[in-house]
Amino acid sequence: MSTPHRLPRIAIAGIAIESSTFTPYLSGEADFEVRRGAEILDRYPFFAEPTASGAALRQAAEYVPVLHARALPGGVLRREAYDSWLAEILDGLRDAVAQQPLDGFFFDIHGAMSVQGLQDAEGHLITAIREVIGPDVLVGTAMDLHGNVSETLFDACDLMTCYRHAPHIDAWETRERGLRDLVEAATVSVAAGHPVRPAKALVHVPILLPGEKTSTRIEPATSLYGRIPALTERDGVTDVSCWIGFAWADQPRCKAAIVAFGDDAAAVEDAALELARELWAVRHDFVFVAPTGTFEDCLQEAVASDARPFWISDSGDNPGAGGADDTTYCLAGLLASAEIRRGDVSALMVSLVDEVSTVEAWRLGVGADGDFAIGGRIDAREPGPVQVRARVVALDESTPTGHAAVLQVLAVEDGDEAEAAGPSGASGSSAGAPRWVPTGLQVVVTARRSQFATADMFERLALSMTGPDVVVVKMGYLEPDQYAAAADWRLALTPGGVDQDLLRLGHEAIDRPMIPFDAEIPEPTAADVRRG
Ligand SMILES: [Zn+2]
Repeated sequence: MSTPHRLPRIAIAGIAIESSTFTPYLSGEADFEVRRGAEILDRYPFFAEPTASGAALRQAAEYVPVLHARALPGGVLRREAYDSWLAEILDGLRDAVAQQPLDGFFFDIHGAMSVQGLQDAEGHLITAIREVIGPDVLVGTAMDLHGNVSETLFDACDLMTCYRHAPHIDAWETRERGLRDLVEAATVSVAAGHPVRPAKALVHVPILLPGEKTSTRIEPATSLYGRIPALTERDGVTDVSCWIGFAWADQPRCKAAIVAFGDDAAAVEDAALELARELWAVRHDFVFVAPTGTFEDCLQEAVASDARPFWISDSGDNPGAGGADDTTYCLAGLLASAEIRRGDVSALMVSLVDEVSTVEAWRLGVGADGDFAIGGRIDAREPGPVQVRARVVALDESTPTGHAAVLQVLAVEDGDEAEAAGPSGASGSSAGAPRWVPTGLQVVVTARRSQFATADMFERLALSMTGPDVVVVKMGYLEPDQYAAAADWRLALTPGGVDQDLLRLGHEAIDRPMIPFDAEIPEPTAADVRRG
């Protein structure tokens, strides 16, 4: 005789951000999209536009959505924002538990959040949540493969999974899989009348890789991630996941991790250790997705090339990975090019966040000239704010840039032409006042951190993705519209908060030995398997 089953009761909460601890930018409440209650469920496309399986999943549980906050990648999260969301999540869960016990909790996170004063932010958050929901509730999470799996996080979660593709084309598929596995485990537990936890295993692999080396479009990541489906088809294994980890935070938890879970403890441990050894075997084989070089070398190549437009990624300050979005290393480099100053080569720099310059451009209006100190307000590393005289050529206000402006950089007309333009004389006389003429360089400034990844963002400012000879963009790998527009492309290894050259960043708190900081790491063995 079995009693009629009730639906499992599953709470949902999380804070999702990827934070570089090497950028001076601090992320705050304004950077986040916060959802509360039922609107959290609207975030999941598999619920909103239900497939048959999504509709079934929607009906398979009683969901208790509490709070979800997500932001674009940025810097360390301000403690007051974290503390206030933490309190709200705990209050919401206390209320939920007081009404009726929970069977499951879905921890919807990225996994590379950093918070002021915390070395393991997600571990801190889930520990506090566990104290409220208790040890019997099954906890499932679905993460970005650039998140970190600390032992604290692993111990607190029962079912962990992450993306299997970079770029992350499977983000929603992964959350749907993670939620489905949680609901199924909670359903079994409800039927059994006690929590039925899967066996789980964690193996860390001490390697840190920059994101631009871990695209699953290229080897060895294609084959490494390609192994996962076969492992999950084994008897007793439900899921196997490979976290690359997050290289731009300086914390002991930052490293690659393999987690597996399922019904058969031995099979789960074997699968985790096997994939960890496969990652170890290719530890020296990861390469950048595009030809790389210093910015100077990339620009020289671009100027000399026949390929137009020639795109260059300013990868060290890529806001999509957490860069400040306002370093001026590339802007200063473009201004130093004689070909660009003369206008023989046209160049577009998109974009730098600079609210002061943007406001000034809006005050001046299209067609007006003004003096600007561009960039270097958040990340002031060399060369800092760049002084230019520029003409406002376009203005726009829309998301995600906020106010934005295109500035045509001007230069004093050179000697020969100045003489040709009229009676010259000693500088300083009114007749000899410098005449400012356009250079080949246009710069886009924005009020908010943003990335010009899509064609429509260029169009709003009447810019062409293919018009300029050289386009410098604060990105890592090019997104599809950019890739289609570029006749050629280099990944410039520029300085910044997400420097792709990890050795320049100055990590101190990470575990050692760690590739690439040390030449070699030991092969994972059964002794490295953490069980649960
Ligand atoms: Zn990622």
